[in-house]
Amino acid sequence: MLTIGRFAPSPTGPLHFGSLVAATASYLAARQLQGRWLLRIEDLDKPREQPSATANIIQTLDAYGFEWDGEILYQSQRQDAYQAALATLQMHTYSCTRSRKGLPTLPAIRVRTPDDPICFTDNIQGNYCQRLSRDVGDFVLLRADGLFAYQLAVVVDDAFQGVNQVVRGADLLDNTPRQIWLQQLLGLPQPNYAHVPLVLNEFGQKLSKQNLAPALNTSERLQTLVAALRFLQQPCPDACEFSSLSACWDWAIAHWDMHHLKPSQA
Ligand code: GLU
Repeated sequence: MLTIGRFAPSPTGPLHFGSLVAATASYLAARQLQGRWLLRIEDLDKPREQPSATANIIQTLDAYGFEWDGEILYQSQRQDAYQAALATLQMHTYSCTRSRKGLPTLPAIRVRTPDDPICFTDNIQGNYCQRLSRDVGDFVLLRADGLFAYQLAVVVDDAFQGVNQVVRGADLLDNTPRQIWLQQLLGLPQPNYAHVPLVLNEFGQKLSKQNLAPALNTSERLQTLVAALRFLQQPCPDACEFSSLSACWDWAIAHWDMHHLKPSQA
């Protein structure tokens, strides 16, 4: 079966070293299997978006030598598909209005969650289970501000794009049972999952756009890519051993081994 992987950044700021690590792992996992690798811009949340972040992300990935297949998918253009999925889920959802200070607001739509555990085997983190009703509770699919929630959009789009291999940061491990639940309700296939350890800053926090992780440097790309490969526990030679960025990618695709990665505490 053709492997289809993807990288799905939200354009809330420039890519940082943690994003490079996640993108590299998903790229290598797909390319090593001669698979396709797709780029999806998760621009669902316009209020949180940073102007020019999308262009910046695309330029940075290109500068680092990532080659995505096909057209970039933009979630901002997929509202009809999310609406259709929400309609399909109608039997399993309910709306609840919490009016603040008496102001009428649109209802958020939530999906009911099961008591039975949802378990899956992550290719890095191993077996992982959650009892959604107890551990998460009924969760939002359509927010009170009218925006579709990430959980719904990611499931609809992974299926739409035929993604069967999801490699992403371990911060999303505990979102996965929610996504599997939606796949089950919608009758969609379940991709394989691998959650890569997170890059932490000097304070032990996840690098993120919110805590202002520095933007990826595009002048020392080869050194930075080597650092990302080493973070991913690949026994990568020194940057000076490679004649070019693409020589480094060739090495990485030929040698990629996810088994070097150990489960992290997520
Ligand atoms: N858009 C999400 C983020 O930037 C990633 C979604 C995913 O990989 O499932 O954190």
